[in-house]
Amino acid sequence: MSDVLRVQWTIIAQTAPQPWLTCSRCGEARRFRSSDKIRVNANGKRIDAWLIYKCTGCGSTWNRPILERRPVRTIEQGFLTALHASEAVLARRLAFDVEGLRRSAARVEEFDDALVIEAVLSASTMPPRQLEILCRVPKPVGLRLDRLLANELRLSRGRIRGLAETGDLVVFPSVSSLRRPVRDGMRLVVSHLFSAACRPPA
Ligand SMILES: [Zn+2]
Repeated sequence: MSDVLRVQWTIIAQTAPQPWLTCSRCGEARRFRSSDKIRVNANGKRIDAWLIYKCTGCGSTWNRPILERRPVRTIEQGFLTALHASEAVLARRLAFDVEGLRRSAARVEEFDDALVIEAVLSASTMPPRQLEILCRVPKPVGLRLDRLLANELRLSRGRIRGLAETGDLVVFPSVSSLRRPVRDGMRLVVSHLFSAACRPPA
């Protein structure tokens, strides 16, 4: 007999992170959005590649370096072909590479709009008293843990904080604050959930 309900939440970021940069045409800091276009400049045996961003105010472009003067022979062939073709899948993957973006831009904004797909991993054999949520986050997302849980469990964020304070919500690996964004592989364990007035997850 088990009173634990195990589910998996796959959290799919919808909006790629955006750098804040000083736009020379707007004359102030603006958010820049990926155009999902890649530009390549091959010069003999070396290659440069950029992901093109556009100012959300005026459309001016910013070229984010992806490769700088890299010897062509050191680049994997599939990657090289995708760069030259400005493949949408690659452009999107690069746009979500927040660590790479941070190397080129001091200030990066992440967004919390995400699609959450729920799946039951193992159902409880009796009315569940504990909910274990395994989080899969294929692309980094700025979605805070408290907001994710509040949205999906239909509880207030205050109630989520209360559960954490009483030890009825535990995050593995532990985080300093529920305001931290959800990351791939996190496990959220909620106890005494169904004694609370809330919707049991489907
Ligand atoms: Zn601008």
